Amino acid sequence: MIKEVTRIAPSPTGDMHIGTARTAYFNWLIARATGGKFILRIDDTDLARNDEKCVDVIHQVMQFLGLNHDETFRQSQRLQRYRDVAEKLVDKGLAVRATNGAILFQPNYYPGHFHDTVAGDIAITDNDKKIINGMVLFKGEDKGAGPVYHFASVVDDIDVGVTRVIRGVDHLTNTAKHITLYHAIEQVVGIGLIIPKFSHIGLIMGRDPETGKVKKLSKRDGASSMLKYIEDGWHPDGLLNGMLRLGWGPKVDNKANTIMSRRRATNMFIHEGNMKANPATLDMAKLKWYDEQYKKGATGE
Ligand code: GLU
Repeated sequence: MIKEVTRIAPSPTGDMHIGTARTAYFNWLIARATGGKFILRIDDTDLARNDEKCVDVIHQVMQFLGLNHDETFRQSQRLQRYRDVAEKLVDKGLAVRATNGAILFQPNYYPGHFHDTVAGDIAITDNDKKIINGMVLFKGEDKGAGPVYHFASVVDDIDVGVTRVIRGVDHLTNTAKHITLYHAIEQVVGIGLIIPKFSHIGLIMGRDPETGKVKKLSKRDGASSMLKYIEDGWHPDGLLNGMLRLGWGPKVDNKANTIMSRRRATNMFIHEGNMKANPATLDMAKLKWYDEQYKKGATGE
C-alpha cells in the first residue's frame, strides 16, 4: 500500500465549518491508515479576507479533535515560490504576461478526462478548455500581485508530494483546471508527474429550524461552527463519529459499526466502506446521540 500524503487546506476567512472538519478527518484517516503524512495548509493568500483569529481557531479545532498533523505551512510564506513557478511557465511558453503584470495560463496540453474515486470519470470539455486557457495564475500589481487559489494549491500539492485529495464536491468543477495545471507545472518543475487521486464527497446539508427544509449548511448556521461545538462542551469523539457517517458508510452497516473509534475507522475507512457522492443532511438529534454515547463511556472499540 502506498503511503498517502494528504492535506486539509482551510482558508482562514471564517469560523471553521463542520464540513472542513469532516474533510480533515477523512484525509487524516487515509494518511494514518497508510502510514503516510497528513499536512495542514493554511490558504491565506487572500490578504483582504484573512483573519488571524481564524488561523488560531483552525489550530484549536484540529487539536480538540485530535487530528494531529505531520507538517504545516501557510501559503502566505510561499509567495516567492508561486511567482517563480509562474515565471518559469512564461519562459516555457506555458503562460503569458498581461499588460498589468498578471500571468495568464496558456497550456499546451489538456487531458481528455480525469478519474474521481467518488464521482467517476469526468470529461474535460471544450468549455472547460475555454475557461482554462487564459485563466489568471498570478494577479497583476493592480490586484495585489498574488497567486489565485487554483495555481497556489497545485504548486503546493506538487511541492509537498500530495498523493490523495479528498474535498467537497463543490471543488469538482475546479479539478479540470487543476489537472491541466499539473501537466503544465510538471514540465517546468521536472520532478515527474504526480497527479493525486481525487475524491469529491457530497456536501453537508442542514435543516432550516423553522421550515424543516433541507438547505446548504452555511457558515452563518450555528450547527456549522466547530468553535461553537467546542464552547458548548461536545465530546470530540462523538463529533468525529457523527462526521464519519456524514459522507462515509461501512460496507457492513450493523450495530457494531455504529459507534466507531478513530482507531477502528482508520482500519476500515479505505477497504471496508465507501465515501458518498450524495449530500448528507446533518441530523442534530443523531449527532447529539453520538455525543451522549461517548459521554456515557462508549469507546467505539
Ligand atoms: N482553501 C480551499 C478551500 O477552503 C482548499 C480546497 C482544496 O482542498 O483544494 O476550499
